[in-house]
Amino acid sequence: QAKAAGRNQYFGFDAKLDAKAYQRFILMSELDKALSRQEFILFYQPRVELETNTVKGVEALIRWKHPQHGFISPGEFIPLAEETGFIATLGEWVLWEACRQSKAWLDEGICELRVAVNVAAQQFWDPGFVAMVRRTLHETGLDPQLLELEITESALMSDQFRMMDVLSELQELGVYVSIDDFGTGYSSLSYLKRFKVNTLKIDRSFIQDLPEDTEDAAITTTIISLARNLGLQVTAEGAERADQVEFLRQRGCDSIQGFYYGRPMPPEELVSFVQSRSDRMEA
Ligand code: C2E
Ligand code: MG
Ligand code: MG
Ligand code: MG
Repeated sequence: QAKAAGRNQYFGFDAKLDAKAYQRFILMSELDKALSRQEFILFYQPRVELETNTVKGVEALIRWKHPQHGFISPGEFIPLAEETGFIATLGEWVLWEACRQSKAWLDEGICELRVAVNVAAQQFWDPGFVAMVRRTLHETGLDPQLLELEITESALMSDQFRMMDVLSELQELGVYVSIDDFGTGYSSLSYLKRFKVNTLKIDRSFIQDLPEDTEDAAITTTIISLARNLGLQVTAEGAERADQVEFLRQRGCDSIQGFYYGRPMPPEELVSFVQSRSDRMEA
């Protein structure tokens, strides 16, 4: 009897503990169906070039429009997709859809926007990755110069020799490459010198407490001058207020992606956003 009670207790405890795990399991098992049911959509967040005050690019950010739970953010399901390996299929879809969209905006005479796509570590290290990017560009007809791949610093550093090869191949292909969440990983400055990348994206954690936080101010200032001295572009992620934008402008940051200018939005909204800004400039 004691044994049975013990077991029940065990199960009772486990069930409560695992309510979250259960939810994860359900979502995991729904991921691949969600793709064929077209429940994923891409939102686009504008990136504003400070010198010209215009939108030159956007970042594609995936959303899951779940029939029961509404919008689920990528922070919740991307890690699950990475665990199950589904990220390969999902990542391919994201790349294709983002390229298709950028090409459509161009062809319809709406705007020319370079589209940045997040690449998961697993995708980047897949031996067929560069070929997949090449094929996607070919199939969608997008100019490689209008595609930017974002890879996090920590994803890049796991195999430093192969990383150089993959980055060289991407450079040959003509796409742009940026290091996402820069400052949170472990890239040593000596590798940075040899990284074949175009842009450093300063992580939002360093931006959010500007300009008051003196340590963040020092780190941000240092990353901006590092990028400039190495001939790289530098983007700040997550500026929400005018004083943050002003701080970054004064230190020579090239562009900003943050709620101050615009949140990630559906493609139709992004088009109105870009058009209303250029109308304002012409007026
Ligand atoms: P990330 O690539 O660093 O993208 C920037 C995140 O910061 C986005 O969150 C964006 O909405 C948020 N953000 C931008 N400006 C501000 C701001 O001013 N304030 C605040 N509070 N947040 C801001 P989101 O869309 O939730 O995406 C989170 C992360 O999920 C991304 O971080 C990226 O790592 C991942 N992710 C999103 N889409 C994809 C995808 O298609 N593939 C992969 N592999 N990962 C993705
Ligand atoms: Mg990103
Ligand atoms: Mg980032
Ligand atoms: Mg991030």
